[in-house]
Amino acid sequence: MAVTEAQHDYLRTAEQVLRAREFDDLVRMIYHVVSDDDIVEGREDLDEGWGDIWNKVRRYAPRYVSNDMVEYIDAAIKTIRRIDDKLWQVRLPEEEAVTILLGAGASKPPPSNIPVVTEFLPELWRRAKKLDREDLNKLDGWCKDNDITNIEDLLTAAQIANFSTKSSGILALLKYFLYSRGELVRTPGTVEGRVIRRPMTRPEPSDVSAVALLQDTLQVLFSLLAEPMISAEPNAAHKAVAELISSHRNTNVITTNYDGCIDQAIREKDIPCEYLIGQPQYDTDNKRAKLIKMHGSINWFYCESCQEMDRYDLGYIKEAYQKEKLSYPVMGICKHCGGLSRPMIVPPLSLKFFMFPSLAGLWDRALIAFQESKIILVVGYSFSEADTYITKMISHTMAADTTKQLIIVDTDRSLAANVTKKLVTHIDNFDEKRVIRAVESCDVLLPKLCNSLLNKETPPASSKAKSTTKKET
Ligand SMILES: [Zn+2]
Repeated sequence: MAVTEAQHDYLRTAEQVLRAREFDDLVRMIYHVVSDDDIVEGREDLDEGWGDIWNKVRRYAPRYVSNDMVEYIDAAIKTIRRIDDKLWQVRLPEEEAVTILLGAGASKPPPSNIPVVTEFLPELWRRAKKLDREDLNKLDGWCKDNDITNIEDLLTAAQIANFSTKSSGILALLKYFLYSRGELVRTPGTVEGRVIRRPMTRPEPSDVSAVALLQDTLQVLFSLLAEPMISAEPNAAHKAVAELISSHRNTNVITTNYDGCIDQAIREKDIPCEYLIGQPQYDTDNKRAKLIKMHGSINWFYCESCQEMDRYDLGYIKEAYQKEKLSYPVMGICKHCGGLSRPMIVPPLSLKFFMFPSLAGLWDRALIAFQESKIILVVGYSFSEADTYITKMISHTMAADTTKQLIIVDTDRSLAANVTKKLVTHIDNFDEKRVIRAVESCDVLLPKLCNSLLNKETPPASSKAKSTTKKET
């Protein structure tokens, strides 16, 4: 099987259509190629390039074609899998530590079904509509007009706006830095825009309380988005990690997820977790699984007045929530001082650690974990720009120990290549072979990979799954 020259030509045309932003045509082109008889019946491979194009256009696709067609394309694109052969040769010696970093992609496969951050914004607007507040409706419309689809951008901008409205000096400086050399104005119908010069003006006096209210509302809405995470169940990837911990106690788990899926999977193995934050709940010893939740957890609460942190039993919260005895408290009363207590979940935004100082202590813990491990296994983590501190830790420790290996498990085909590029730039004589990529859904790969790391079974022969989805007629 191979990719034909005709398909290559078609792919090049599709790339031009993408550059012209003719998404309607493009989505139909992708559907056309993935539903081609030769592709469906396995006589011809799909070029990896289709995956890249689909990633860029997928969020617009439901506007142009039916949901069935979107799902059909998704399934077909998923058949483009690439796993480095050397993945199956990696072994985890008994005495060596391993660190597993779980990102949002780890909690996405069923039954966990937790949406990744890029899927949050539409849900946020849906909830905002129920409030029927004029400012939120206006903001929703503006974001749609300006193609703002990332909740991280929105929350970051709201936070910076709130911060800068409190000081007219900072606002004036922001304007100076951003616009002193002219303002970029997009000419309708062009991508480039043109730069026009505008004289410096004093910033308009902003409505401080309105911006603060907006930021607060967005954050409360974000906490509400966390509500469905309470009842989420661990998937095969969480269970594989828990299984690995039970066989290999020298395992650190670091996660940016707030859900309790990995906690529950570990608990189901009768292993208590040590979270390495606040007052130690247990003596730290090898009987406890080290679980570092960098962005907090749905069952942790933080008081803005006395800065006390409370951790509630995840199992109890889950049971009470499912019996509807409890709704998720986006605001609560601190039991220590009577102040306002919030869930300790860090919204996806830059400058995030201003919010919960106690989480900053976890940085040191994470760095130690990365340092002491010969293998860093990254699962469903996007290396996002807002989380550069984690990328830097990994890069730093990869530079310090030239025998350390980085395994990247993700459905995004270009992720490992991008990370490798960064490492090559930052580390002298970096050996690219130290990064091992597995483009595969983690719930499928991790059970096999964890067994292979422990050398429990012979590596599977590389096989290529074919889509079994019925073709739409
Ligand atoms: Zn308090």
